[in-house]
Amino acid sequence: MNDHTRDLIPAPATMRVPVRGISVSGDFPVHRIYCVGRNFADHAREMGATAPASKAERGTPVFFLKPADALVIDGVAAYPPGAQDLHHEIELVVALGRDAPAGVLDPAQTEALVFGYGIGLDLTRRDLQTAAKAKGLPWDTGKSFDQSAPISALLPAGEVGALAPRTLSLRVNGTLRQESRLDQLIWDVPDILHELSKLYALRAGDLVFMGTPAGVAALQPGDLCEGTLDDLIRLDCRIAPPR
Ligand code: MN
Repeated sequence: MNDHTRDLIPAPATMRVPVRGISVSGDFPVHRIYCVGRNFADHAREMGATAPASKAERGTPVFFLKPADALVIDGVAAYPPGAQDLHHEIELVVALGRDAPAGVLDPAQTEALVFGYGIGLDLTRRDLQTAAKAKGLPWDTGKSFDQSAPISALLPAGEVGALAPRTLSLRVNGTLRQESRLDQLIWDVPDILHELSKLYALRAGDLVFMGTPAGVAALQPGDLCEGTLDDLIRLDCRIAPPR
């Protein structure tokens, strides 16, 4: 019998991020992971880029993607192969709960799409990214690798409230490495969803890593990363020895 609907290899598993709200709990199945580069002026400068002096001068955001199966939800990420300089980047993560309507989203329309928020680490093989940048090549090997996206549980948007006064921070082995209020984002969440909608069909299940503040630095096997968004959202992730 010839069955055209039968999978001939094991179907890849859908990644799911736990949702731990007071009002709702369950799982968030993931479609895609979009990431924003250079979204805090202090981090753009530490990477040797020019930070825009005003909103009018900010140009267009830098986007890249990670595969959905790069997520780490159990709090242990192996030091990746092929690199000697693994960096932490703590970031706000936006979780979309609805498909966007066709066309470009008005920033005022974007709030209705947001399911909730988490925080994540955009783990980066900085040596590979720096080499790619120098040659004008894509960032994929520096950014889009296995276990490159540890993520917290998600909190429904209504339990997070206004983002701008919230503080995002990262401690490594107890030492503060990164800290910024979210009002320092060059492109806020409505801006980013508006810009992404010009380029992609945004879908329920999409995650957006919003970019990192200054203070990125190297991680070693054994390091413990503790990210927080005030006392609302917490991410603990241990860097394990290479597999
Ligand atoms: Mn990043």
